[in-house]
Amino acid sequence: MTDGILAALLSVTGFCVGSFLNVVVHRLPIMLTSGSVTEGKAQRFNLFTPRSACPSCGRTIVARENIPLLSYIALGGRCSACNWRIPVHYPAVELLAGVLPPLFVIALPSQQQAIAATFFAWSAICLAVIDIRHKLLPDALTIPLIWAGLLLSLGSIFTTPEQAIAGAVGGYVAFWTIDQAGRLLWRRVVIGHGDFKLFAAIGSWLGWPSLPYVLLVASCIGAVVGLALIAIGWHERSKPLPFGPFLVVGALLTMLTGQASARWIGLPL
Ligand SMILES: [Zn+2]
Repeated sequence: MTDGILAALLSVTGFCVGSFLNVVVHRLPIMLTSGSVTEGKAQRFNLFTPRSACPSCGRTIVARENIPLLSYIALGGRCSACNWRIPVHYPAVELLAGVLPPLFVIALPSQQQAIAATFFAWSAICLAVIDIRHKLLPDALTIPLIWAGLLLSLGSIFTTPEQAIAGAVGGYVAFWTIDQAGRLLWRRVVIGHGDFKLFAAIGSWLGWPSLPYVLLVASCIGAVVGLALIAIGWHERSKPLPFGPFLVVGALLTMLTGQASARWIGLPL
């Protein structure tokens, strides 16, 4: 298959998968906090049933309102029944899920890597948005991501099994150590446990040598975004920002530009 056809296939699939990712982002935290039963009656509630509905007025979303991106634009970003403003993360998730795969096809040396990176990106987008909205990185997503990274290493897609295992263990232990030091020195939680597992997952996908680079990129972008959010009054200085989204951005940038940019700042990768 040519790169162009693969990019187009992954992109179209990505826009459609984006709609499902929004369901995961909306429902998984509810399922984790309230079990699989909605308030009131014991109705089946999981990632597939019931059909998607407006979170504000409860009206079932019909097929023509469920077309990725286009429906959001056609509806002017509002529910057609109650005029509820649809949060901007809905179209953003669909856009990223569709736009990232062609970039992987262009940037990565093999089609296998581009396909694998696409699945990583779809999971990572869910994790980032759930962390922003709920300060939570569900095990239901981070743990399978760790296993997937280790399995891929058997085929040396991104890294060797040795570097993947060292990356998974090293990522977890590095953050655990930082957290323990924080509790000892400042008597507070520095890094959430979900971040331990997300960093382990990134280590299992990219291998341990990538971890310092991912952490550096995530910390720099986190500091800049954090200061900007405080400056414009969108975030209180006393509250910690979720770190998961920055780790995700660091990992995706490392996948896209990793070796070239790491060499540029002198890190071995
Ligand atoms: Zn509505």
